This record gives sequence, structure tokens and C-alpha cells, in this order.
Amino acid sequence: MSTHAPQTYEFQTEIKQLLDIVIHSLYTEKEIFIRELVSNASDALEKLRHVQLTEKDVADESQGLEISISTDDKAKTITIQDFGLGMTRAELIENLGTIAHSGSKAFLKALGENGTKNTNLIGQFGVGFYSAFMVAKSVKVYSRSWKKDEPAHVWASDGSGSYTIDEATDLTRGCKIVVELKDECDEYAAEWKIKELLTRYSSFVGFPIKLNGTVLNTVQALWLRNKNEIKDEEYTEFYKFQAHAHDDPRYRLHFNADAPLQINALLFVPKESPEKFGLSRAEPSVSIYCRKVLIEDKCKDLLPEWLRFMKGVVDSEDLPLHISRETMQDKSLLEKLNKVLTKRFLKFLEDEAKNRAEGYDEFFNEFGIFLKEGAAIDYTHRDSLAKLLRFESSVTEKGKLTSLADYVSRMKDGQKDVYYIIGPNRAAIEAGPYLEGFKARGLEVVFCYESVDEYVMSNLREFDGKKLTAADHADVQLDAIPKPEGESLTEDEAKELSTWLKDSLGAQVAEVKSSDRLVDSPIVALNADKFMSPHMRRMMKAMKQDGADTPVRVNLEINPRHAVIRKLAATRAASPDRAKLIAEQLLDNALISAGLLEDTTRMIQRLNKLMGEL
Ligand code: ADP
Ligand code: MG
Repeated sequence: MSTHAPQTYEFQTEIKQLLDIVIHSLYTEKEIFIRELVSNASDALEKLRHVQLTEKDVADESQGLEISISTDDKAKTITIQDFGLGMTRAELIENLGTIAHSGSKAFLKALGENGTKNTNLIGQFGVGFYSAFMVAKSVKVYSRSWKKDEPAHVWASDGSGSYTIDEATDLTRGCKIVVELKDECDEYAAEWKIKELLTRYSSFVGFPIKLNGTVLNTVQALWLRNKNEIKDEEYTEFYKFQAHAHDDPRYRLHFNADAPLQINALLFVPKESPEKFGLSRAEPSVSIYCRKVLIEDKCKDLLPEWLRFMKGVVDSEDLPLHISRETMQDKSLLEKLNKVLTKRFLKFLEDEAKNRAEGYDEFFNEFGIFLKEGAAIDYTHRDSLAKLLRFESSVTEKGKLTSLADYVSRMKDGQKDVYYIIGPNRAAIEAGPYLEGFKARGLEVVFCYESVDEYVMSNLREFDGKKLTAADHADVQLDAIPKPEGESLTEDEAKELSTWLKDSLGAQVAEVKSSDRLVDSPIVALNADKFMSPHMRRMMKAMKQDGADTPVRVNLEINPRHAVIRKLAATRAASPDRAKLIAEQLLDNALISAGLLEDTTRMIQRLNKLMGEL
């Protein structure tokens, strides 16, 4: 029973403005008011713990530090009680009636700068205590300060221009907030609903939370603990819980930093790639917390897109403070977090690659595609990512990987470029006509099997100052090597045959010359088009893009020592018709090896004809 009449106070103008927006907003995720009130309760308990360390005379000393929540679906109320430090009358006025505090101030500032009633900002910032008015007809705050001599009060408002404060009796230390729900929001008086929301937003709150008398399981905020004291099983359990995962994590990275930002991060790489079967694109899913309370799960801008396979949590105390000073518009805080986290993760991968290469290669087989994506499009991290790429090559065994740095360390004296061949698999590349010239000269060639590799290589352009060069490009100049033993066309014969081939084969062939890069194959098609490689052409075709239909044009190189070529030179005069058929067939063979032959019907007819002449 109060001994005084309740006293009425006007809200500060900014608060009125804020309440007006909050109450009339159509913001759909009204549920965040739970997060806000529970985080205030948790803050109040945390602060009390500090007070207990320094003060002797604390009210209700024996009261346990917990949060007690009750729902009443008849009365349509939800009550959130904590036994934290509570508020005096002056503090009620200061904290709940003016805009001195962080979240709401930032919200208003961002609103002002946005120039609109952008209610999405409510979700991004949280509007703290006032978010209760999204769902409430009225809010009552019963509060008793930890200071023993202070009287207890009840603060009440319906969110319109004013609030009242009255003295109250029989209160335990802390705050008890009774939210009387609007009719259309009565779902928040249902126990199951609140349980669901508490699990979502407040699983890591460091104090026991009781819902209608039963303690909800809270999970330890592992990321805030000292990593030397955490067992592997605990990490795995946490990963499964937090990421809703069923596998064990492949990698974990637990670190904290104080500069340039205060960060506690616990990041995981899953065992398997979420995009393994190419069915769907993974959504970013690292959650961001501020002192154990969820700010946003699946935070989009926290990491670069090519790290969208990562799981885990990032906690930063700087978050709300910073937000109050910055506008959300420039996203500078998230950008800074992004930078720090990415750098740390790349460093982590570098260490793994160096110290545990086998495990790293397994990681790369599963997740390399993401690193390639980053290497191709993320200019900021390109150099670090290029070092992390792995490929098979002409000197590795099948299934074994090499880095570009190792390739460079094996380069021959005078070799300027890093060579690569794109093909469907190792066997196809080894059997094709492109490798043999490099092999004969002892030049290593990187093997690329994935359709993105072409894109990656042409975007990277260089590694360690060495040009990345496609082995099937017409510009590639290989050093002369001693000609192999055995019969060969003379230079003049080869020249004549080349001219004849060019004339007979028509527009598809830009140039024909005798080759020093061929050893076992009679002919090879080299890409004459600087701007569109065969692989790019195929990709564009698959995506039905313009330009894919421009006619194929290639340069041909012939092997003057090969039996077919020698015979062709001889047949040319004797039976010109037959020679023409063979020439056309040779061109098609070369196009098949290059992956450029699209229509095989003509070729089959021709082959049948040639075989009929046996
Ligand atoms: P913020 O938590 O960002 O400061 P809020 O709007 O959530 O902003 O809360 C405003 C202020 O009201 C808090 O800073 C705190 O001083 C006070 N407050 C809110 N809830 C409680 C509580 N349960 N116990 C004690 N003080 C509280
Ligand atoms: Mg708050």
C-alpha cells in the first residue's frame, strides 16, 4: 500500500517520439521484446555481482541471482523478474524516462538520418526497454534498489505521453516487469511460445532462467571461457547445439582480441560443405552476440560471402556502445569486425596448411571451392587466398595436392610462367595433346578440374610475380629441344602441308604451323581467341549467354614426325579427295581434345566413309 498518491511525469520529448514509433510500427518481429527485457535483467544481475564485491550492505543478500519469468494466459500478462541491482525513484526517472542510454538513442539517431520510419531498425538495434510497448497495453516496473534504505516503487505507463511512479511495499531487491499484453499479442502469454523465444535468444545468458517455476537449460557461453579449460567434447557439443549440426566440426578457431575491437569469437568449419551437392547456396550463419545475448543470428555482413560455410558465434562488447555513436548506415563496426575475423581465419588456415598439411588438403578438397571464389572476387584477400589454393599437377601423384608456392619453388631456370591446363580430370589431361610438349621439356603443369578454375586463374593473373598461363594458349612459346630421332617431314614439306591444310579447312582455322610442342599426337588445336577460352565458351553456353555462339576459330599445330601427318603429306597429291577427308577428321580430333566439337554427326558420317575405303 502506498502512503503517497502516485506522481505523474511526462516522458522526455525524444522518448515520446520513440514510443510513438514503437507503438505504431508494423514491425513484425515484436518478439524481440523478450530478448531486450531478459538482457536488461541479465545486465542488472551482472551489475549487482559487482556491487556485492565492493559493498557490504546489500539488500536481500541471500536472494539467488536468477531471472524468473511467468506467463498468465488468463490475465494475458508476462512477468519478468530479476534480483539484480534494482532502481531508485531517481533512477527510474533517469533510466526509463529519458534518453540517456545507448540502444534507443542510436535508434533515434539512425531514424533521423534515414529520414523515414524505417521500422526494421528496431530489429537491428533493439529499442531496449521500450520494445515492450510493441506488445503491451501497459507496463509496470516494480523495483527495489540494492541500497537498503531506499523505498521501493512501481513505475507504470501505457506508452502515451506520461508515466506514474508510486511507492510500493513488499518487494524483493531487483526489478519485476509486468507486461499487460495487447489483445492481438496474447500469444506471448503462452508458455510454449516464451520457451521457444528464450531458447532462441537467451540460451547463453549466464544466470538461471526459470519459466513458470521450471529452470530452463542454459548452455554455457563457451566462447567467453578460457580456452585452456575447455575440452574437445565441450566444443563439439556446443557446435552441435549452436549450429544445429549433426556432424563433428572439422576445424575450430577460438580467439579473443581487445584491439582494435573487443571480440570473443568461436568459429567452426563443418565436416562437409553445405553446397556439396550443388543443390542450394549456403546462407551465412555465424551469429553475433553482445555479452551473451543474441543480437542477430545469421548475420550477413559479419564475414565475406565466400566464408558463408562458417558456423559459430562472435561476441563483441563494443557492439551496442559503438552503435550509439555510429550510424547503422555506414556499417563501419560490422566492417571492422569482418576485417579482423577474416584475417584471423586466413592466418589460421595458413598455420594448418603449414603444420598439418594432410588435414588441410582434406579441408581443401571439401571447401576449396569457397576459397577459389574468394581468390577470384575478393580483391582484399586475394594474395592470402592464392597461397591457400591447392591443385594436382603433372608432378604430383593422383590425389596429391600442391600449392602454387611449391610449384614456383620447382620452376626450372629461365621458366617465367606458371602453366596450367583445364580439363575434366587427370586421365583426360594426361591423354590429351596439350601436356606432351611441357612434359618433354620437364615443365610442370598445374591441373585444373573445376569449372571455376578458369575464372580463378584469369582473375588471379599472377602468383608471386609469375604469370599464370593456360597451356593451350596459342601464345605459349616453348624452348626448342633436340628433335627426336626418326623420320620427319622436311621443313618445306611441313610448310606446304600447313598451307594446304589452312586452305582446305576453311574459316574454323586461323593458322596452321608445324609444331615443336607435340611428341605423341599428330595435331593440336590451340586457342586463338584471347578473350574466350574453350572453357569459358562452354560455361557461357551453359548459361545461355551472348557470345557463346560466335564460331570457333583455332590455330592448329601439326607434328611433322607423326605417321598420320607424314602419310597425309604423301596422299595429298595421289588422292586429293581422301586427303581432304583425313584433314577434316584431324581437325575434328583436335577440336574434341580441346572440348570444342559440338556436333558429332558429320564426323561420324565421315569416319564411316573413311573406314569404308579400307
Ligand atoms: P540499455 O539496456 O541499452 O541501456 P534499455 O532501454 O534496455 O537500454 O534500458 C534502459 C536502462 O534502464 C538501462 O540502462 C538500465 O539502467 C535500466 N534498466 C532496465 N531494465 C532494468 C532492470 N531489470 N534492472 C535494473 N535496471 C534496468
Ligand atoms: Mg537493454
